[in-house]
Amino acid sequence: MTTPLTLGEITIHPVVEQEGAFFDVLSFFPKLTKELLDENRAWLQPEFVDLQDRLVLCIQSFLIKTPRHNILIDACVGNHKSRPSRPFWNMLNSDRFEKRLAAAGVSLSDIDYVMCTHLHTDHVGWNTRLENGRWVPTFPNATYIMADRELTHWTQREKENPQSVSWITDSVLPVIQAKRAKIVTSDFAFDDSVKLIPTPGHTIDHFSVLIGRSRADVLVTGDMIHSPLQGKYPELGMMSDYDSAQAGATRRAVFDRFCDEPTIICVTHFPSPSTARVRRWPDGYRFIPLGG
Ligand SMILES: [Zn+2]
Repeated sequence: MTTPLTLGEITIHPVVEQEGAFFDVLSFFPKLTKELLDENRAWLQPEFVDLQDRLVLCIQSFLIKTPRHNILIDACVGNHKSRPSRPFWNMLNSDRFEKRLAAAGVSLSDIDYVMCTHLHTDHVGWNTRLENGRWVPTFPNATYIMADRELTHWTQREKENPQSVSWITDSVLPVIQAKRAKIVTSDFAFDDSVKLIPTPGHTIDHFSVLIGRSRADVLVTGDMIHSPLQGKYPELGMMSDYDSAQAGATRRAVFDRFCDEPTIICVTHFPSPSTARVRRWPDGYRFIPLGG
C-alpha cells in the first residue's frame, strides 16, 4: 500500500476504493478538442489517459491522523448504492475501502471527523451504510463537516427531484437526520493545523483542506481539479461543474498561491500516488511528482 505522508506529528494516508479508466476524456471535458488532446498525448498517455482515450482516475479518501483526531476527507462511492447511470459505481459490494482503512490502523469507530469537500456521489458514499434496510452513518463516532451553501443547494435539489440526486437521499440526509453533521462556512479553521479553503466552481461551495504549518503543509484538493490537463489549461471545465468559469478562476488562484511553495498537493482523482508539487508552466501549471 502507498506509504503515508508525514508532517511532524501528522500523517496522511490515501484510502483508495477504485482506480481505473472510467470516462471518455472528450466527454469529461466538453470543451477539449481532439486537436488539443492530440497535442498533449505524449505526456498524458498512458498514465493519465488510457489508449482508448478514457481518463484514468483514482476514487479515494484521505485519512489524516493528528495527535488528537482521525479525520477522513471525503468518502468515495460506498456499498449497496443504486447508481444506474454510472455502472462502475452501481451497487458496489466490496471490502476494499474498510480493508484500506484497517491497513492505515483505524476502524470505522476510530474516525472522529468526516470532511465532505463537496456533495457529489463519489465523495459521500461511505458517509452511510445499509443496516437492517436503513441508511445509517458508517462512522458511529464521527462528526461530518459540510459547507453550509453546499448543503442548502443539494437539499433543495433533493426536494425538487429526489430521483436526480439519489446520493443526497441515501448518503447525506441520513447524516443530517442522525444529527451527526456540523455545518460550517467553507473557510472554517478546524484547528491550528487543519483549515478549509474555499475552492468554488466545481460545486457551489466546494472546499479544499490545508493541513500542517506554513512551508510544511499539504493541500488536499477534493475536486477543484480532475486531471493535470486542467493545470496546463486552468480554464478547461469538466462536465459536472456548477460554474466552469469560476472553477477555472479558482484553479488559477490556488495554484498561483502554491506554485512557489514546498506545499504537497494531494489530488483526489489523480492516479496513485496522487501527490505532487505545483509549478508554473507557460500559461498554466504543472505537477511535479514528489522526488521528481
Ligand atoms: Zn469526484
